[in-house]
Amino acid sequence: MVSGYVYDPEVAAARARELRAALPSWATLLFALKANGFPPVVQALAAEGGVDGLEVASSQEARLARDLLPAGSVVAAAGPAKHPGLLVELLAHGVDVVHAESALELRRLSRATQQTGTRVSVALRVNPARVDVAGTLAMGGRASAFGFPEPEVPAAIALATSLPGLDLVGFHVHAVCGNRDARAHAAYVGWCLDWAERTASAHGVDLGWLDVGGGLGVSYDGESPLDLAVLATELDRLRPPQGARVVLEPGRWLAADCGWYAAEVVDVKQSYGETFVVVRGGINAFALPGTEDFPLPLVVLPVDEPREPGPRAEARDTRVTVAGELCTPEDVLVRDVHVPQVRSGDLVVMPKAGAYGWEFALHAFLGHPPPTRDVLTATLPADLTLEPTP
Ligand SMILES: *Cc1c(COP(=O)(O)O)cnc(C)c1O
Repeated sequence: MVSGYVYDPEVAAARARELRAALPSWATLLFALKANGFPPVVQALAAEGGVDGLEVASSQEARLARDLLPAGSVVAAAGPAKHPGLLVELLAHGVDVVHAESALELRRLSRATQQTGTRVSVALRVNPARVDVAGTLAMGGRASAFGFPEPEVPAAIALATSLPGLDLVGFHVHAVCGNRDARAHAAYVGWCLDWAERTASAHGVDLGWLDVGGGLGVSYDGESPLDLAVLATELDRLRPPQGARVVLEPGRWLAADCGWYAAEVVDVKQSYGETFVVVRGGINAFALPGTEDFPLPLVVLPVDEPREPGPRAEARDTRVTVAGELCTPEDVLVRDVHVPQVRSGDLVVMPKAGAYGWEFALHAFLGHPPPTRDVLTATLPADLTLEPTP
């Protein structure tokens, strides 16, 4: 292996069961497939007692959902650029609800139902003008390519109900990201319920579907993780509108813990007083670390019998920057982290790489081989299950 991911599907399954058990019985739990599309992981998440289905955003994801999910699972489709061909394919793959993002898309979707001789349930994706939630969240109301701005919702409702082939079932709001404040998240869900009920009743929508999006946050450094017990208690206080299916569709929270990214150390070098650990597979294999404003955890796994003969480059008890194999200074996994020892031929391993890992990487840039994906078969060394301090 030069760089790759290992996944423990049992960890994913356990996460799904844990969250499912914490949610009220009125909640439907989908997994946002873009966070991890490795079939063994998806199947584990969707196993008995886990998620009720998937949120997809491409034809390939819709096909994967159809191929991997047990019968009776729920599939919702989102995405800001659903062209005519994609809509026809989503219908062909049997998605249950399409989250429509514009007036033109509604017309297109209606045409796609006429072409395929079907009907489809549609929910309007809404970009609320304001999400009034105390605490850490203040999202929505920002210009975006996603969904209908709130003032356009009445016209969108009128359009959706006038077009043939469409059954308007409700709304979709995804206005939160990386939130570890359980109370604030429950308040956000409460706000969505209230908004949807008011809007549906003002415009005569028979509210059957309210998708409140994803956004449950993961603690990468072990500090203040999302408190599921608090989320459970707070959500339990809410009363969803009669007859409405309330849907949560997290990605990161469900998948992050089930994956580890590993890359072989090719070189260790000094440059003007700084130490660089150069590995096979930087942002072309794992781009997420570069998009977060904190270092993701990283552990050096010693390899005592390296594949390459001869002397090894090394550094001890020092702070290092872990760079990748691409010809750009952007190719950095982690900056300025302490390592006890690192040698060429060792492996750097990043736990919590199960969400937005393989899927989110820039595989094509420079044309190195893409990272491998495998199911974990070995027992992990204890230090890979601990939280290393950056
Ligand atoms: C990405 C995405 C999600 C999942 O977000 P997380 O932050 O991973 O939970 C859910 N819904 C939609 C519409 C998304 O685009």
